Amino acid sequence: MFVRSLSVPINKYFKNSDSSTAKLARLGIFTVSDLLHHYPRDWEDRRNFISLSDYKTAPVCTRVKIIAREFIGYGYSRAMKVFIEDENEDDAKNTQAVLMCFNLAKRPWLEKQLVTDSSHMIYGTFKDSKYGELQCSSFDYGPVSDEGNFVGSSKKNFGKILPVYPLTSGFTQKSLRDLAETALKQYDDKIENELPDEIIARDSLLSKREAIKEMHFPSSMEELEKAKRTLIYEELFYLEIMVTRRAIERRRLKNNEQITGSSEQFKKQSGWTGFSPLQTRLIERLSFELTQGQKDAVLEINGDMQSLVPMARLLQGDVGSGKTLVAFLAALLVVEKNEQAAVMAPTELLARQHAENAAKLLEPLGVSIAFLTGNIKAKGRKELLKNLETGAIDIVVGTHALFSKDVEYKNLQLVVIDEQHRFGVTQRALIMSKGQSHPAGAPPNLLMMSATPIPRTLALTVFGDMDVSVIKDMPPGRKPVETHLAKESNEAKVYDFVRKELDQGRQAYFVYPLIQEGDEIKDAVSMAERLSNEIFPKHKTALIHSKIPEEEKKQTMDDFRKGEIKILAATSVVEVGVDVPNATCMVIEHAERFGLSALHQLRGRVGRGLDQSYCFLVYSDEYTEDGKNRLITMLENSDGFVIAEEDLKMRGPGRFTGTEQSGYLGLGIANPIRDIEELQRARTDAFSILENDSDLLLSNHRVIARVLEEAPPFCNVAL
Ligand code: ADP
Ligand code: MG
Repeated sequence: MFVRSLSVPINKYFKNSDSSTAKLARLGIFTVSDLLHHYPRDWEDRRNFISLSDYKTAPVCTRVKIIAREFIGYGYSRAMKVFIEDENEDDAKNTQAVLMCFNLAKRPWLEKQLVTDSSHMIYGTFKDSKYGELQCSSFDYGPVSDEGNFVGSSKKNFGKILPVYPLTSGFTQKSLRDLAETALKQYDDKIENELPDEIIARDSLLSKREAIKEMHFPSSMEELEKAKRTLIYEELFYLEIMVTRRAIERRRLKNNEQITGSSEQFKKQSGWTGFSPLQTRLIERLSFELTQGQKDAVLEINGDMQSLVPMARLLQGDVGSGKTLVAFLAALLVVEKNEQAAVMAPTELLARQHAENAAKLLEPLGVSIAFLTGNIKAKGRKELLKNLETGAIDIVVGTHALFSKDVEYKNLQLVVIDEQHRFGVTQRALIMSKGQSHPAGAPPNLLMMSATPIPRTLALTVFGDMDVSVIKDMPPGRKPVETHLAKESNEAKVYDFVRKELDQGRQAYFVYPLIQEGDEIKDAVSMAERLSNEIFPKHKTALIHSKIPEEEKKQTMDDFRKGEIKILAATSVVEVGVDVPNATCMVIEHAERFGLSALHQLRGRVGRGLDQSYCFLVYSDEYTEDGKNRLITMLENSDGFVIAEEDLKMRGPGRFTGTEQSGYLGLGIANPIRDIEELQRARTDAFSILENDSDLLLSNHRVIARVLEEAPPFCNVAL
């Protein structure tokens, strides 16, 4: 069986399943397959002892003796200081340190187990505290026998390499480790290879079974490396197989078209060149002229859509260059032929804004627009779905709900994906599968839009033979946003500046890296309070972040757009697309915690009107010189393309998994930028396999055909 076919629901492992199941669902884990694919983000090497005196070089992993204890506080704030001494060092050293145990009320076992004179194994990162002590407040410990051997839980937690998983609150590393171990025990001998054997042999990769096992519970660092290499390559291999299949298919269609001249015929039938009649009507109604970049992009799109080969175009243009309008103009082209278009945005906020704009611009032309998200319930939804199915709706705007199972289209011919880098491959593939009615039996026309460009070479590798349009110019009259760096200790000056803007009737965004409970850093929830009560009591502040119910978010955005709310305290939900021209100030606190591209997107929320706008990047006083240089890139560049390139250059190897790096494509473990060599190898392999055996009939290619059929990595439709 392939791992992805292990669709046994995860709740079978729980007796009382509801809360655990819900917590795992937040991590995207529903089945055994999801669990095995939930790769650790890091590993702790607890095989060797690292004594307290080496705390600076690595996390400490050693045997200690408790020499004394001390209690501080009462009730809920009662805490325990445990004084320890390294038992594993030379006697001469005897390094001492402190284990800080906060929250004792909730963890009564600490007091019972960590008693004076007892010995324990511990693992944790120690730091010098203000009081000259070596301290650690987040540690793992386990019992040792008098002879110093691991006993009880130590047998499980020490002397090996342990996985560290991305977590959600309420679920511990330990329970996830146990779960992974149980699942592996039960299924690992059923796991089949997904790569052809000859590739595994050629590159000395591991079998899929070994790779999965080594990822979760490595037997050595070397085997772990091999496991990573195997899984990365496998992911990229299937990505390239799918991309290449589509590329070969498009090439075939293009050749056919040249032979039959069908595209010329197509154009004659439509009876126009340049802009279509409906497009012309919209352009005439606008209060401004299209920029040259917009015109060119629309004409390129028109050309694509008059061909029988489905369009696959990436529209790149910096934040604020007016891509939305280009998308609407493209949509008019299909509406004119009584076909449908779907416009997909990554957040409900953005989708709603697009729907409202579309209604304003296009309804007067007689186009019917609908808005569809996961939050539209019951009656309204049923009606809407019916209208999509009968074709009463011309353009539907929404989130990924546009491709839910129950959504059927009469004749979907154009899919627009805004901020495409925010979507995974899976989601793109799914929506493409909804429109199978293209005359050539191919997927619908696809227009992807993004302000965060992927370098062209990478785009080609990733999207096959995708065409690219670039809008280089900005609508006239825009003033570049003035950007300033400020240390956190100087934030009062920033607030004063913003106050002056507010007093003149302008509006401001304040953005924070966290929603709530920032221990040492500011978060949106508590800062919304402070902004409203202390800092700007005269101006109305509202809070917006992803956990706020959609209705409330909508109300807040509406009021902000109308100017009734002056200040938005937000997380990066405002990062994409939001368009309120009267907002002139963007203050990003803890700017050091955002990627450059995210900062650029955020900055793009201001400078959308005729007034001078400002962006303040407030960074922590302790921020390093290197880090500061990173922020300086933002002062020196206003071009999103340059910033994206810089961002790529500066980004180190970083953490191993996590959405950040695979975000472009929704890949699990591979990162096409870091793993460019593997990507290229995968591409070469995919081409040579498909060019000689396009139907995957050769016996050594059967496994590929089976994977695509039984357990497609992304989805079994062309990308
Ligand atoms: P982005 O490319 O970042 O998605 P938008 O489509 O949100 O940009 O456009 C930004 C703003 O510019 C919108 O308010 C839009 O109405 C306006 N706009 C678009 N095209 C033009 C133009 N040619 N001239 C003036 N304003 C324009
Ligand atoms: Mg946009």
